[in-house]
Amino acid sequence: MSSTDSYYSSLEFSSDSFSDISRSVLAHSAPGSDDADFLANAFDQLETGSPSAGFQFNPVDDLWFHNIENVVLQAEDHFFRVPPTLFFAKSSVFSDIYHKRDVSSTSFFTYAYHGNDPKIIEQLGAPGCTIIKMLGVTAVEAATFLSALIDPEYFEGPPARETLEFILAIFKLASKYEVRFLRRRALAHLERVYPCSDIDDWDRREDFSTFSIERQEFHCHPVSSTLTGTLNIIELCTAYNVPWILPTAFYECCLYDMKTLLAHPKWKDCPGSLPNDIKTRIICGYLAHKEESSRVLAFLHTDLPHCENEQVCSNIRRVELRKLCTVREQPREMQDFLGKVWDMSDWDEFVSQGMCNSCLSCCKALHRAFRQVSWDNLPAMYGLPNWDKLRAQRQAL
Ligand SMILES: [Zn+2]
Repeated sequence: MSSTDSYYSSLEFSSDSFSDISRSVLAHSAPGSDDADFLANAFDQLETGSPSAGFQFNPVDDLWFHNIENVVLQAEDHFFRVPPTLFFAKSSVFSDIYHKRDVSSTSFFTYAYHGNDPKIIEQLGAPGCTIIKMLGVTAVEAATFLSALIDPEYFEGPPARETLEFILAIFKLASKYEVRFLRRRALAHLERVYPCSDIDDWDRREDFSTFSIERQEFHCHPVSSTLTGTLNIIELCTAYNVPWILPTAFYECCLYDMKTLLAHPKWKDCPGSLPNDIKTRIICGYLAHKEESSRVLAFLHTDLPHCENEQVCSNIRRVELRKLCTVREQPREMQDFLGKVWDMSDWDEFVSQGMCNSCLSCCKALHRAFRQVSWDNLPAMYGLPNWDKLRAQRQAL
């Protein structure tokens, strides 16, 4: 069994077991310390087998390859020793680091150690050692990303199913360290649920999705964990220049009630919270959704030609409009102008109440047209370039 195989079997790591690796990796977490002290103590412990007070050295066994060059990656307090030739061939950022074309630290990484300390050389089995600390990266994200990099089958593109956490971890690190094939695969998953193509693909997103979008089921009582997923998508796609996913991601975000959003940790003024620019776009979006719902429902009060029974048909529409303004006051439904504000079953009610065929056809045509206009306006609601420009950016990638 290869080292990688044993990694899978020991963790039973699959697309549905992101939490397994979280537990496995994080079960060994040690208290933080500054880098120099931490490394000194970590290698002391590795040598003597006796942990120094407050420290625990955590080489991740199945991402700790022996008999290779001594480049070690660090995320939080976990260390990964991976084949550099494979790894650096795929990552232009790390290739530059490895070949010393750029030895200055950036916001992406820093040198935790670089030298020839005899103690470290003995432990790693070869002279010279570079330990590169990945900044802003959790141990779980690093383990997921490195596993996908080493084994091409570890993370596959659609139609293979994955979890959103898994996809976002790989998208984040593949973008950060410029590993293009993994970034493309992660984006292919996201684009199935957050399309930039047309409204028909939006309508079919549940059928196309390769990860759970069950947040749609929490129309009236959204739970914060699903909102977290949406906010993470917005934050990462903004940070790593994928604007064509943002209109539909913002749309989904604005379906949650404002109270839930304002109570979310990412909205509070603390480290790791959303940038102000994103918050502004969300608030503008909330206001725009109200207007768009009115637009999509305009068929309820527009004059209709060729009616066969004007008194009945007008009354049906008038009653429905009144119901929407009184009964259907659930925030999410009225915010969902592309969906729940008016769905297919609502036409059945018109038929059962005796609306004439002419009015029914007109209403459906107007609804379809108003909905298309709203879809066309979607990027503008959140201060984004129009769909054509967003699709051009995608093509230029
Ligand atoms: Zn009619």
